[in-house]
Amino acid sequence: MYSGDMRYLALVLTLAASCSAEIVKDRIPERFIPAAYETQRMEGLLGERMRVNLEGRLLHVDESRLLKGFVNPPGEQDWIGEHVGKYLDAACNTWRYTRDPRLKTQMDRIAAALIAAQRADGYLGTYVDAKRWTSWDVWVHKYDLIGLLNYYQTTGDKQALEASRHIGDLLARTFGTEPGQRDIIAASTHVGMAASSVLEPMVTLYRMTGEKRYLDFCWYIVHSWDQPKGPKVLATLRATGSVFKTANAKAYEMMSDLVGVVELYKVTGDASLLRPVVAAWHDVRDKRLYITGTTSSKEHFLDDKVLPADDKDSVGEGCVTVTWLQLTWRLFKLTGEAEYAEELERSVYNQLLGAQDPHNGNICYFTPMNGKKKPTPGINCCVSSEPRGISMIPQLSWGATEKGPSVLLYNEGEFKTTFGALSVSTTYPREGSVKIAVKETNGKRYALQLRVPKWTTSYTATIGKQKLTGAPGTMLSIDRKWKAGDTIEVKMDMSVQVIPGGKSYPDAVAVQRGPQVLAAEDSLNPQPAAWRNAALKESAPPAGWTGKQIYSAGPLTLIPFSDAMSMKVWIAKQ
Ligand SMILES: [Zn+2]
Repeated sequence: MYSGDMRYLALVLTLAASCSAEIVKDRIPERFIPAAYETQRMEGLLGERMRVNLEGRLLHVDESRLLKGFVNPPGEQDWIGEHVGKYLDAACNTWRYTRDPRLKTQMDRIAAALIAAQRADGYLGTYVDAKRWTSWDVWVHKYDLIGLLNYYQTTGDKQALEASRHIGDLLARTFGTEPGQRDIIAASTHVGMAASSVLEPMVTLYRMTGEKRYLDFCWYIVHSWDQPKGPKVLATLRATGSVFKTANAKAYEMMSDLVGVVELYKVTGDASLLRPVVAAWHDVRDKRLYITGTTSSKEHFLDDKVLPADDKDSVGEGCVTVTWLQLTWRLFKLTGEAEYAEELERSVYNQLLGAQDPHNGNICYFTPMNGKKKPTPGINCCVSSEPRGISMIPQLSWGATEKGPSVLLYNEGEFKTTFGALSVSTTYPREGSVKIAVKETNGKRYALQLRVPKWTTSYTATIGKQKLTGAPGTMLSIDRKWKAGDTIEVKMDMSVQVIPGGKSYPDAVAVQRGPQVLAAEDSLNPQPAAWRNAALKESAPPAGWTGKQIYSAGPLTLIPFSDAMSMKVWIAKQ
């Protein structure tokens, strides 16, 4: 939350000091720096869903179930240990943004209990000694590291960093090519891709400590992919450019590996690492992405343009949606290219929010487009991953490049960068008018960057008498000497697209308005109705309805997919 209060400023500066605890600076600096969580206020649709994530989910995690497998192994599931790290990551982001004291007390308690469960040799898993490093054990340590390293960055707690070092040392001792060391590829399912995704937090650990043995371990992981039984992640992507043809095409694990490769690229500057990741990203976007911004059926990538989306197809595992967002976000930060930000918007407004029950924060494992959502408060991988994705929203929304502050997602709120503070007033995505006000500046000339969505047919930005037109799918740059009190009036057409059903739904269409895919909610469409070309009209929600947006199109009543519970996105053509 942004405030001019001096006490608050001191807190932010303290935090900034703890957050810049990186010993190693990246060789490849990022072009886009997200606005710090602490400087933001978000309201509107995104703010409401983040509030539900805090109140409905994070504050209600089952702490004893999350922790008991560490204290008394074995855990009740092979992967039960992953949840505590995912919780800590989501809680840290959410606390930085909300400063909620209930969350802080809870996350301090959980972090302390986790650290206390670590064995003298650094082991922090949920397996009995005889079964160490089988099944999902390395994977669990990966999420320990992700959670504890974020906790260290957020709170400055040195014990969390020490616990992370002990994990890193244990992994580096245990796995490798020296006599007596184990093979990391043999330590997990999915051709070793699950265990080797520990690459991402091992790069972070190297950044935080400067210890070369952690960087050496990262290279060991990358090289292990090419051994005879390895998944050949980068080699296959270099040769084919296809995630479908890579290893066993398991989406969550493969994209987790690629997130780690981007981190290794940033810290080393080795360009040969980045090219296959960019190829994989384009392959997913062009051939395997659902219109709601997720990928995979039954947790695997499918062949080109095969996108079945009924209940039986187990579409868009929540973990896959969040990992796709994490990968896309990293590529946007590196390049500043609008095509990545376009996909952040698609995924956030559709699949990410669509997997969350807007009433209570429960989460879906799979989220079909034609079928019923089945949100649960239970413990599974996606119920732990989705809150991480939702907690990222402030980082995906706005920030700055070296040219000036940037607005990626249009949402009511305010944020601050080194260029100054901006406020945004809008009811987006309900309407396409947005007023951006300069609240304070650093006194220097800069170019404000506004994302012009690809789906709009008309985008203008007006400052006083100056009117600029934005080209869809680009960043509009407005370079001038800004002063406090300047305002920019943005008007974009919330264009309606009728999208053909492609290979999987040849006789159906879907309707998208602005960034939101719409759905025919079953309870609002008691009679089966087909799509015929009809203008979309906003109508009044029935009494007691939770969502704010309802549209009629001929006999059909449509709502955003993100609000729907039992619905059809693919609607038969008349
Ligand atoms: Zn999952």
